[in-house]
Amino acid sequence: MITQQEYNQKKKRLLQELNSAVKTGQPIALRKKTTNLFRPRDQGDVSRIDVTDFTHVIFVDAKNQTAEVEGMATYEIIVQETLKHGLMPAVVPQLKTITLGGAVTGVGIESSSFRYGFPHETLLSMEILTGDGRIIEAKPTGANKDLFYGFPNSYGSLGYAIKLKIQLMPVKRYVKLTHIKYTDSKAYLKDLQKICDDKKWQNQQVDFVDGMMYQRGEYYIVLGQMVDEAPYVSDYTYKNIYYKSILERTEDYLTIEDYIWRWDTDWFWCSVNMGAQNPILRRLYGKDRLRSDRFMKIFNFEMRHGYKQKIDKLFGKKPIEFVIQDVEIPVQNCEEFIKYYFKTINIRPVWVCPVRQLDKGKTWSLYGLDPSKLYINFGFWSSVEAKTKDLAWHNKSLEAKVTELRGKKSLYSSAYYDKNVFWKLYNSKEYNKLKKKYDPKSSFKDLYTKTVKRG
Ligand SMILES: Cc1cc2nc3c(=O)[nH]c(=O)nc-3n(C[C@H](O)[C@H](O)[C@H](O)COP(=O)(O)OP(=O)(O)OC[C@H]3O[C@@H](n4cnc5c(N)ncnc54)[C@H](O)[C@@H]3O)c2cc1C
Repeated sequence: MITQQEYNQKKKRLLQELNSAVKTGQPIALRKKTTNLFRPRDQGDVSRIDVTDFTHVIFVDAKNQTAEVEGMATYEIIVQETLKHGLMPAVVPQLKTITLGGAVTGVGIESSSFRYGFPHETLLSMEILTGDGRIIEAKPTGANKDLFYGFPNSYGSLGYAIKLKIQLMPVKRYVKLTHIKYTDSKAYLKDLQKICDDKKWQNQQVDFVDGMMYQRGEYYIVLGQMVDEAPYVSDYTYKNIYYKSILERTEDYLTIEDYIWRWDTDWFWCSVNMGAQNPILRRLYGKDRLRSDRFMKIFNFEMRHGYKQKIDKLFGKKPIEFVIQDVEIPVQNCEEFIKYYFKTINIRPVWVCPVRQLDKGKTWSLYGLDPSKLYINFGFWSSVEAKTKDLAWHNKSLEAKVTELRGKKSLYSSAYYDKNVFWKLYNSKEYNKLKKKYDPKSSFKDLYTKTVKRG
């Protein structure tokens, strides 16, 4: 924790650094210690501004259930501080090093999203560093409300949030989990919709909903209910592996903290690619190294340099295509998506998370979803054997299908959209207005350049 005064001093220093960086005429980027982006590329010449110390919680207002947090504070730090007050952010993305600013600008999601929407919907205000060398406050009302509503999905191309005020929610000590199995996608989707509408299952309140698709015809809904007492608690932070437990039992109990980070230990299940699910190697890794950020570093290294791929080529293996994506599809169109997915992509397993916009009356200009609809987020993060010489064939096919099914694709990973298509999907009209107002000299790369262009 730091004081408001300490924050103000750092803010002054950062503003000076920003103005010096603007003068260089080079695009501005962040210097920070962690990342959860999946688009490794050479950024060219950039001026980096140092935000490595903007990582603290400034204040937790337990009475009003809000917190003021620096923009690059990781959720691990935020959760640690808020749990001391019996509170947590209403939506906590699953990976410990995702930051509040990153989740808001990159449209995060979690199993409380069927109730509370996206992290940006839990925002009360932000202080944003803009491309014209200012720090401004953006709130749902007032002069900068256009930036408040245009910030989600702008990926630092309009400004960087350095302080955010967010809504918290009260927690109980434990989470009771119920795993429900389905073999039929229609019944699966129907129940997901019903549970999210009723916020109940068999007359019990439901606090968290997510799920898994292990293969075609093997689907699970996982319900979480916060409870004060638990008959036992399971531990998936070392020897046991959370995603496997869903197949093995119908009910489970975790502490609230272990529930929040249930996916981090094995980076969902992607730790398998680093050998960390082999019992012997797992011991060698040791409990403290089983963390998403460790695995991410190893994986990013391979994506950049492709050593394993070069060795595989020597042994005559076919080239691969990385397909690391999260997509949101209106629930009505999910049956068709599931059919397409297992026929065309078929990376297994798949994470499933329902989400709906919290306040139907609001418009988040750069990430517009139909506020009347429930969407299902499907997350899949691995590689497939290349189908053609085009090593983006599957990704492009997926983009086309998501558009056809009126869904939306997150932009934290590779994107291949043609420029015109991209701007139709992500609201060029509003984006250009915001860019002109808050970054007139293009100190920050624009959204298309950042998220689609290579090299
Ligand atoms: C395998 C995988 C699984 C994922 N699963 C989930 C998931 O389940 N739930 C979920 O919510 N998200 C998930 N994500 C996506 C993640 O939330 C986004 O990538 C998010 O933007 C990462 O935030 P970060 O704090 O790590 O920021 P970074 O990775 O450092 O940056 C992400 C982008 O945001 C910009 N940015 C960073 N900080 C700020 C700021 N303060 N203000 C403005 N712009 C900023 C950066 O310039 C960059 O363009 C997943 C990502 C991966 C790789």
